[in-house]
Amino acid sequence: MNKSSIKIPFVNLNLQHQPIQIQLEQAIQAVVSQGNFILGQAVADFEREFAAASGAKYGIGVASGTDAIALGLQACNIGSGDEVLLPVNTFVATLIGVLQAGAKPIFVDCDRQTALIDLAAAAKLVTPKTKAIIPVHLYGQMVSPIKLLDFAQTYNLLIFEDAAQAHLAAREGYFVGSVGIAAAFSFYPSKNLGGFGDGGMLLTRDPDVAQKMVRLRNYGAAQKYFHVEVGTNSRLDTLQAAVLLEKLPYLAKWNCDRNHIAQQYDRELLPLASFGITPIENHSDVGHVYHLYVIKIDDSCTFARQQIQDKLAELGIQTGIHYPIPCHLQPAFTHLGYQPGDFPQAEALAKQILSLPMYPGLSSSEITEVVSAIASILSNSQQLLCL
Ligand SMILES: *Cc1c(COP(=O)(O)O)cnc(C)c1O
Repeated sequence: MNKSSIKIPFVNLNLQHQPIQIQLEQAIQAVVSQGNFILGQAVADFEREFAAASGAKYGIGVASGTDAIALGLQACNIGSGDEVLLPVNTFVATLIGVLQAGAKPIFVDCDRQTALIDLAAAAKLVTPKTKAIIPVHLYGQMVSPIKLLDFAQTYNLLIFEDAAQAHLAAREGYFVGSVGIAAAFSFYPSKNLGGFGDGGMLLTRDPDVAQKMVRLRNYGAAQKYFHVEVGTNSRLDTLQAAVLLEKLPYLAKWNCDRNHIAQQYDRELLPLASFGITPIENHSDVGHVYHLYVIKIDDSCTFARQQIQDKLAELGIQTGIHYPIPCHLQPAFTHLGYQPGDFPQAEALAKQILSLPMYPGLSSSEITEVVSAIASILSNSQQLLCL
C-alpha cells in the first residue's frame, strides 16, 4: 500500500504529538541548553514520576524494553542455571531478555480466548530449577494477578512482569508493576507511552534490585570508576526522558481513549461472530489499556486472514499481525529444541489473529468504517457462496 492510499493507518503518533508540540520542543531545547545528555535531570524526574504514576517505589531508566528485561532479570538474580517460564506467543524481546540474562527459557502455551499465558500449562513445566515466571501482559491486558500470585506461591517462584505493552494497566485491584518483584517497560515510540526513539524502564519495590539495576545499566559501577559487577552501557537518554516526562500526564487519558475505542469495536463487531470473527477477550474491563486491538479469524470463516488483510489494505485500512510466528518456530531459536505442534493454541492463534487500527484519536466514524469494511468483505463472500 503506498502511503497516499492509506485512509486509516495502523497507528498515528502525530495525533498525540501535535497538540503538545511546543511543550515537547521546549523540553528538548532545555536539555540541549543544559548539555547534560547522559543521566541528566530529566531522567531522574521521569523515573520518579513514572514510578509514582504506576504505584511503584523505584524506577530505573534504561536504553530499551529489551534491556529492561535482560538487565532486570539479572538485577533480580535470575540467570545461569535458572529456568524461566514465559509465553511462547510473546514478542521475541521477552525471549532475548531471558537468554541475555543467561537463564534457560521454558516456553508455555497460551489461552485461546485471551492470548495470555496459560498457567495450568505452566504448572506442568515447573521443575526444581524453575526460578521465575514472566507474565507478558499482552496487548495491554494483565495476566490475572490473583492467579499469578497463587501460582508463584504454590511453586515458590519469582514473578517478573513484561509490561512493555501495558503501561498503567490494572486488574483485580492490582496495578501493572505491583504484582511481581519487578516489571519491565518499553518506551518504543508506538507503545502506549513512547519516546522519540528507544527507551525502557524497570519498576520495582525492592531496594536491592533497584540498586543493582542502577549499577548494571552504568558499566556495573557502584561509584565512578569503581566497578563491582560486569554491567553494560544502557541508560535512558536524557532527551528521551524529557519527551516522556512531557507526555506522561496524558497517558491515563490516552489509555482511556484506547479502552473506549475497543468498546466500540467490540459492539460493532458483535454481528460478525456468526462469520467466525471475534475479538480477543477482555477479562479486565477498563483496566485493559489496549496497546493493540486484536481479532481472531476462525478457520470457519469463508475468507482467509490474508485475504481479509489484503482487501482491507485495498480499501486503505492498515492492519498488523502480532505475532505471525511464535518464538519457538523462529529460525534463530531452533537450538532450543522445540518442534511445530508443541504449542497448539499459540500456533493456531498465530494463523488467526489480526490487529486493527488502534491509537488515541482514532475517531468513532473511522472505527465504524473499519468494521463496515470487514463486514462488506464477508458479505461479498456470502453472495459468492449463494451463486
Ligand atoms: C516492545 C516489547 C518489548 C521490547 O521493548 P523494546 O523497547 O522494543 O526493546 C518487550 N516485550 C514486549 C511484549 C514488547 O511488546
